[in-house]
Amino acid sequence: MSNLTELSMVDARDGLRAKDFSAVELTRAHLEAIEQAGALNCFVTYTPELALARAAESDARLSSGTALPLDGLPVGIKDLFCTEGVQTTASSHILEGFAPTYESTVSQNLRNDGAVMLGKTNLDEFAMGSSNETSYFGCSINPWRRQGDDTQLVPGGSSGGSSALVAARLALGATGTDTGGSIRQPAAFTGIVGLKPTYGRCSRWGIVAFASSLDQAGPMTRTVQDAAMMLTSMASHDEKDSTSIDAPVPDYEAEIGKDIRGLKIGIPKEYRVDGMEPEIEKLWSQGIDWLRDAGAEIVDITLPNTKYALPAYYIIAPAEASSNLARYDGVKYGLRVADSSDDIVSLYEKTRAEGFGAEVKRRVLIGTYVLSAGYYDAYYIKAQKVRSLIAQDFSNAFEKVDAILTPTTPSPAFGLGERSDDPISMYLNDVFTVTVNLAGLPGISIPAGLDGQGLPLGLQLIGRAFDEQTLFKVGHVVEQAAGFDAKPENWWGGAS
Ligand code: GLN
Repeated sequence: MSNLTELSMVDARDGLRAKDFSAVELTRAHLEAIEQAGALNCFVTYTPELALARAAESDARLSSGTALPLDGLPVGIKDLFCTEGVQTTASSHILEGFAPTYESTVSQNLRNDGAVMLGKTNLDEFAMGSSNETSYFGCSINPWRRQGDDTQLVPGGSSGGSSALVAARLALGATGTDTGGSIRQPAAFTGIVGLKPTYGRCSRWGIVAFASSLDQAGPMTRTVQDAAMMLTSMASHDEKDSTSIDAPVPDYEAEIGKDIRGLKIGIPKEYRVDGMEPEIEKLWSQGIDWLRDAGAEIVDITLPNTKYALPAYYIIAPAEASSNLARYDGVKYGLRVADSSDDIVSLYEKTRAEGFGAEVKRRVLIGTYVLSAGYYDAYYIKAQKVRSLIAQDFSNAFEKVDAILTPTTPSPAFGLGERSDDPISMYLNDVFTVTVNLAGLPGISIPAGLDGQGLPLGLQLIGRAFDEQTLFKVGHVVEQAAGFDAKPENWWGGAS
């Protein structure tokens, strides 16, 4: 039965409908694979009984001819989405033991469409990070390794548990969230597809907030069509999130296989950054050739304010985070550290000192600093102005082109501990992805090749606001041209 874990989501859906196998069999195959894969540390909370119960419900609908769009398909849910009655930690000690009484809109949408949750996937604490190493529950491990080298590599972050899970064939797909690159960067590091939708396409309700003006949920899958299928379910208008758009959700899957002749693809010169690995540059050129060969017109463009994106992001995101994280005070839920002699202030202080990890504290400190009276104009307001300029750069570019092609990351996956001592080198991972969040645009990462050490590399497509369709259409062309069929060798245990 182990080959059931090799199916794409689309093939699994078709197989279930053709009664080639049942939802319980499909779920069991994944649970068995997960049970061999403890070394990957993909889950903070694993929910096999719940998964089997939901799969049985799917089987009942499948056999009565009332199947839902994602019925019986096993997925991971990033542990940033509140799930009713199931522990939700944001990979932080401060939320350990917190079981929400409600379900996030996105996970509810997936549930309403019949998807089977396998558990809650590991992430960087409060989604702050690019490697998964800031998780209180230990780092999730990348199933990929450099050839002939057993150094453990990070799966990217913050959605590293989700990326490792999908790449290791332990789920057909998973949810991620992306504030500065947290879907696309881990997707690139693990050879899978990750899409950050336009800000407002998916509801943020019930997702533990990091930086509310940047956060967005999206799918992580092994194929572009699977991502289209999953986003169709995840996206919705939601009265509980005033920033979610009241517009119909298109049939994203219908874009797969469409012609791209005549489409204009922009290549931004500012993304040719110093220190980019030559192999990534080569892959980018190859991507340009693939699109040209498919009939697209390649156009050189300029996004002149790109170099200010990272500094602006690392002011705006911590500013919003410091405000959002003020609610973790030991009073309402989660961890409380105090003894009977403590007053309320020392309860706050002790709880926050013990409950938050170093990276979260760094962000709260930076955030409160840039928002403080004397510095607000010099940092926060200025960063907001830069943000407008970056959005304007993209608007100008999208007058000339239909989508933009860039690498997803400046390097392949790195080893555990290789960058954790130097926050700046960690932040540099996001150089190609944060711009997209600042401008609120959709972006997709597609696995496009391997580097000389056998590690996956991704290409990113950026689209106009609410034009995910073009990303699916062009993304599928890149996927077909790349023919990426490599998979990680199973070193973590059990049959592959
Ligand atoms: N790596 C970025 C950060 O640490 C982005 C994280 C994210 O998108 N959640 O802020």
